[in-house]
Amino acid sequence: MKSYKICVLIIALIISLFGCEQTTPISDDFSFYTPSEEKTSFPLVPEGPVKNVILMIGDGMGLTHITAARTIVLGAHGRLTIERLPVTGIIDHYAADEFVSGSAATATSLATGYKTSGDMIGLLPDGTPALTILEAARDRGMSTGLVATLTITHATPAAFGAHIHDRDLEAEIAVQLLESKVNVLFGGGRALFRPGVSGYKFTRTDDRDLTKEAQSAGYEYVETRDALMAAEAENDYLLGLFNDGLMLIQDPEPTLAEMTDKALEILSRNENGFFLMVEGSQIDWGAEDNDINYTIRELLHFDLAIRSAIHYALNNKETLVVVTSDHEAGGMFIPEGPPNQLDGNISIGWGTDGHTGTPVPVFAYGPHAERFMGWYDNTEIPKKIANILGIYDFPRKILVK
Ligand SMILES: [Zn+2]
Repeated sequence: MKSYKICVLIIALIISLFGCEQTTPISDDFSFYTPSEEKTSFPLVPEGPVKNVILMIGDGMGLTHITAARTIVLGAHGRLTIERLPVTGIIDHYAADEFVSGSAATATSLATGYKTSGDMIGLLPDGTPALTILEAARDRGMSTGLVATLTITHATPAAFGAHIHDRDLEAEIAVQLLESKVNVLFGGGRALFRPGVSGYKFTRTDDRDLTKEAQSAGYEYVETRDALMAAEAENDYLLGLFNDGLMLIQDPEPTLAEMTDKALEILSRNENGFFLMVEGSQIDWGAEDNDINYTIRELLHFDLAIRSAIHYALNNKETLVVVTSDHEAGGMFIPEGPPNQLDGNISIGWGTDGHTGTPVPVFAYGPHAERFMGWYDNTEIPKKIANILGIYDFPRKILVK
């Protein structure tokens, strides 16, 4: 066989192994997603003071994930809520020592304004702790919140309220999140807060019951959607753990949008304002599984949570909403495919079962949203937020006593 034919065969084999197109039947019921007829962008808001910041992170979300979700539920001509934010930008998300990294490093950059490496949470590569934008907001008297659909102790929320060298030490991260006095903590992960609870890859190995400790410290504690809805959080502290491990977003759990609404209700009581981070945590998991239905379902739940945030910001003019991603996952693409792709009959290709280094989008709405235009680094996100809030000693390392 001539050498060029061998080359062609090898290339074809590589493509079939690593760049596979997939025409997965789109079978999931996305009827929970209530489409909006509106397609036009939300308006630019005149410059003015910003009291509240809602940072929303679609874990693993790239442009293709958004485009595919829109096309499947609305057709190519539609617009999801995320696509209607008036300002768009692009961020790079490489880590201190590698181009494609995990969520610990990328979330640490989004939280602290510094690059880091490996599985570091809220630490620089040499182990020095860095202040997070949530802690900076808390230290100036603002209320704070973290909402996620994986465990509330996994990498992304952890990077905003904990400092630890290994993202897998979730039982210790649970302790740190409570010590950080984050007002609102909603997600999965009861196994990290209570002894003897299984159903997740990590458990508490000591006998501390952090749900009891939290209540002693002033938190109200809930485990179901109904309890969440009824919670009054008189002390402005609410811990909601809705699954032993990651959330399934089905009865008796609340949706991401419902958790966002409740967080906003509690945090908005503070006249000094608030910082809230909401994560669409499992877009990443769907993409790493190369599972189009899982990916789209999670992205649509995230979009409904964005709608909640925008609804709040439209009524509360001093609120800035920034939506972005930590990295792309799955190397997702839309190849030439079957007929009627414009109507949602799309085929999806996947390049990897991991993360990619492709830059990811930023969307912003509210006063000073224009500052998020352009192409910049992920470390700029918390720096821009700090500057807009009038926090000028940021980013900075935490002096260890
Ligand atoms: Zn991630």
